[in-house]
Amino acid sequence: MPSIPALAASGLSKRYGDVLAVGGVSFEVAPGEIVGLLGPNGAGKTTIISMVLGVLEPSAGRILIQGKDIAARRSEALERTNFAAVYAPLPGNLTVRENLRVFGLLYGAPRLKRRIEDLLDGFDLRKFADSKAGFLSSGEQTRLGLAKALINEPSLLLLDEPTASLDPATAREIRSKIREFVRRGGAGVLWTSHNMHEVAEVCDRALFLSRGQILLEGDPRRLPSQHGKANLEELFIAVAREPLSLEAA
Ligand code: ATP
Repeated sequence: MPSIPALAASGLSKRYGDVLAVGGVSFEVAPGEIVGLLGPNGAGKTTIISMVLGVLEPSAGRILIQGKDIAARRSEALERTNFAAVYAPLPGNLTVRENLRVFGLLYGAPRLKRRIEDLLDGFDLRKFADSKAGFLSSGEQTRLGLAKALINEPSLLLLDEPTASLDPATAREIRSKIREFVRRGGAGVLWTSHNMHEVAEVCDRALFLSRGQILLEGDPRRLPSQHGKANLEELFIAVAREPLSLEAA
């Protein structure tokens, strides 16, 4: 029997006045799959993530998280969902440990004490456990944000540029930790990134978004040659510059 998708979006649109930020996109994320959501600035990536999180109401379309419609069964649908994004920093006046505890309680995370200790070690945060989050460097705050994102062992994880503020060595470590989490627990992940090497390394599938539409979709390691490009970065630039000619190709 096919498994229920971690996330299924159909006909999803968002209009801001005259601006159609997202224009009727449909896609799925399977359990255990990491899907890259790529596209130039303003393509609609964050808008899609905000709608999946229930922060923004879609103008049209439907979002199912593990088969539960977020419009009708919001809290059930979002219970095993989590996210990390630099634009959603954690409370700076709480310590690292307090942050993990508060979010763990909010999500009703089981075995919370043990989980916090594991995440402090896993994200190299133990030495900051009693420091206020607001005093951490941006890379340290990013690691805390990712630890918080895993606190409830989510089945659907939304990551908006999760490695953007990390040095290359830490970014590599974090990528492998997220992959390990997915391998172990079978979460589905929607991952936005502007780093095409990262996408090729980490994503099972990539969706190329341009002006609120999905133009291309496929294996990020095979897509470039399928479209006559040397690598994902060249393909990205071509999609961003000339979406219509690629659409016709
Ligand atoms: P980036 O890579 O720069 O983060 P993005 O792909 O995440 O970009 P969005 O932030 O989703 O893009 O924005 C999509 C479009 O919607 C943009 O044209 C943006 O200007 C517009 N937009 C976003 N939020 C609003 C808003 N509150 N009111 C009006 N327009 C908005």
